[in-house]
Amino acid sequence: MPSSVEIVEVGPRDGLQSWPDFVATADKIALIDRLADAGLRHFEASSFVSSRAVPQLADATSVLDGVRRRAGMRLSVLVPNLRGAEDAIAARADALVMFVSASESHNLKNVNRPRDGSLEGFRDIAAAARARGVPLHGAIATAFGCPFEGEVPVSEVVRIARHYADLGVRRITLGDTTGMATPRLVRERMRALRTELLDLPVALHFHNTRGMGLVNVAAGLEAGAAHFESAIGGLGGCPFAPGATGNVCTEDLVHFLHEEGVATGLDLDALIETARWFEGVLGAPLPGQVAKAGPRLARSDPGAVATATG
Ligand code: ZN
Repeated sequence: MPSSVEIVEVGPRDGLQSWPDFVATADKIALIDRLADAGLRHFEASSFVSSRAVPQLADATSVLDGVRRRAGMRLSVLVPNLRGAEDAIAARADALVMFVSASESHNLKNVNRPRDGSLEGFRDIAAAARARGVPLHGAIATAFGCPFEGEVPVSEVVRIARHYADLGVRRITLGDTTGMATPRLVRERMRALRTELLDLPVALHFHNTRGMGLVNVAAGLEAGAAHFESAIGGLGGCPFAPGATGNVCTEDLVHFLHEEGVATGLDLDALIETARWFEGVLGAPLPGQVAKAGPRLARSDPGAVATATG
């Protein structure tokens, strides 16, 4: 088990892309700035996909422009094609994330082309990124199961991962798009990628759709994963996947990791405060639990709690 892990905050992208209302650009920037104050350094800040498909993230350039850049900070963005990659590079993105689904029907729904068409298009993105010295990451959606096809063979995940490795990505993310991961699948996929890709880091991106998020994190940790993606307050979902709900919640994840003695470099109290503040911004409650209950050793004043009478 690693003694420390890196957390990538994906709330500004994965969380907000499916939020029913457009969140003001200034609020997105303030969210990233506050999370950076809490110690987060790596963000999936936005997405350069078509603003017709995802109007919630149409302000990607302004978000990248507005965030106060700090030492060691990396703002990565999703890019679907060469045009998106060029726009992202022009907007000073620190890393480009390519994405494809491990299952054919989800890829068709998500980006309207077959998987091999997506993989083919990555060559141009990779060439543009290489020419400008911008790091590349590769994300694999539906890596633990597909809402349309059911089980996804581990061989498909490995095939795509190998393709990414050939393109020179620095990290591969396994995305549990609709919360279908289980600890058994996490162990199996981590083992297969370890064997195939040796030391290329693998990040785990779980959704808490079926309440399995932190259990899967535990399995990932034991399998040697040292990078996890999560969203403040448990924001999140995928507009093109039925039933997809929130990401693993950042402050719940940090609470769990710290209790396990795994360092994150993050300030849990500041994360909780940020989650509560952002609920106010959205005007809606978020699913995270530690922001409601407080850390496990947070004490209540006995005088402030009603005495049971029954
Ligand atoms: Zn996601």
